[in-house]
Amino acid sequence: MKTDLFINNDWRSAASGDRFDVVNPATEEVIAQVAKANEDDVDMTVDSARACFESDAWQQMNARDRGRLLTKAADLLAERLPDVAKLETLENGKVLFESKIDISMSVETLRYYGGWADKITGETLPVNGPFFAYTLREPVGVVGAIVPWNFPLNIATWKFAPALAAGCTVILKPASETPLTALAMAEIMLEAGFPPGAFNVLPGGGSTAGAALVKHPGVDKISFTGSTEIGKQVMRDGAETVKRVTLELGGKSPNIIFADADLKSAIRGAQNGIFYGKGEVCAAGSRLLVQRSVKDQVVEQLAERSKKLEPGDPLDKNTRMGAVVSKKQQETVLSYIESGKREATLVAGGSAREVNGKGYFIEATVFDDAKPGMKIVDEEIFGPVLAVLSFDDVEEGIALANETIFGLAAGIWTKDIQKAHRVARSIKAGTVWINTYNMYDPAAPFGGYKASGYGRDLGRESLDGFLETKTVWVAL
Ligand code: NAD
Repeated sequence: MKTDLFINNDWRSAASGDRFDVVNPATEEVIAQVAKANEDDVDMTVDSARACFESDAWQQMNARDRGRLLTKAADLLAERLPDVAKLETLENGKVLFESKIDISMSVETLRYYGGWADKITGETLPVNGPFFAYTLREPVGVVGAIVPWNFPLNIATWKFAPALAAGCTVILKPASETPLTALAMAEIMLEAGFPPGAFNVLPGGGSTAGAALVKHPGVDKISFTGSTEIGKQVMRDGAETVKRVTLELGGKSPNIIFADADLKSAIRGAQNGIFYGKGEVCAAGSRLLVQRSVKDQVVEQLAERSKKLEPGDPLDKNTRMGAVVSKKQQETVLSYIESGKREATLVAGGSAREVNGKGYFIEATVFDDAKPGMKIVDEEIFGPVLAVLSFDDVEEGIALANETIFGLAAGIWTKDIQKAHRVARSIKAGTVWINTYNMYDPAAPFGGYKASGYGRDLGRESLDGFLETKTVWVAL
């Protein structure tokens, strides 16, 4: 397993010589010691990424060949899927079948943007007068991709694949909890044939390596996914160099069950919406809004199902609830659970657990009788904790759904198609799922309204974030 910094197609120790521990949250074992980048490493890497961006090797490469490098990387990742998925589970604590889904989507994302590389075009413009005017789309330059620990490699591909397709060069800073699959990806990018400096990986601290990337005048764009708090800091730090910034931030997404829904699938959807990925999902349906006439029935069945989600070894194929990512995260989630116990009615879970005497596990937890103003309703918990609220009519349901600073996603469960589409239009969120939840595809843009950020990952929209538009006028 590679544990050094990946700079200019070369494995290097950190300038300081420092390393940090990566811990398996299910066993509390140190599984790797990874080189820790600081400001000096960032300087050196930006020089390499800039030199590559300006080099003939990169500038003169045909767009189609650039796309082929991405599809080659997709093939190599697909070949190594079982190993990379296992590594993701070891560093993150998520169950293995979820890691396999993550890595499969990473493969799909690489292929999807490999296909886009030679389809990025400008327009001819119908201007007044004897002129021919057109636009060129040009790569923005050196991109810093800063990603969180919940979908470590998957979210990284959402950023570096479109950036490279657009013709940018990339410096990826993984979260310090989960740098290993990003380093595995670096091996693959080297083998796929990317020229030195096109793709670099700098594991390190957020306030050191991350902040240095954001402030660096040689970095043209930051594509950030993480908490709203750090997202604001990234905006502030990027302002000095007028950095282009895309922010994918936190959420507190409403999952709305109407009385006329297919309740069996709605309840299953509510469960997956919050407990998939141990609730460490930005779009988690962490506020379940249920129409009052079916609320008790929904809560009873959901509590039943939640109690069966026994925490277990994430590598065991029968486990449905893995370990939360770290002791720190476990403590944060438990403090929210304590606050919930004071404010609402606990109907399932509510405790920390160990598996074989170790690990940072939390039971699938459900609170009934939750209301706006409670911490478990207003704040992002980022753990397996669901708050159930009730409403009487559609208008009240919509108002409750929008009563949040966030706007990342929402779910709607109803058999009434007019109601479904009307509610979908009324909800201020970047993604709305109707009679399903947590669906993602490289072709479907993903991102937030309000404090959930701006700009989009995935889809064609994501490419816009890595491109400048140049308008050219020709007198005829
Ligand atoms: P975080 O904000 O603590 O860290 C995210 C990344 O930013 C990490 O790589 C971290 O090292 C780095 N960082 C920290 N301080 C920095 C600084 N001052 N300058 C630059 N970089 C810095 O988030 P996290 O705890 O890793 O992840 C959880 C959060 O991510 C949740 O809020 C979740 O909702 C959000 N998230 C959002 C999406 C989305 O698409 N909207 C997806 C996944 C996670």
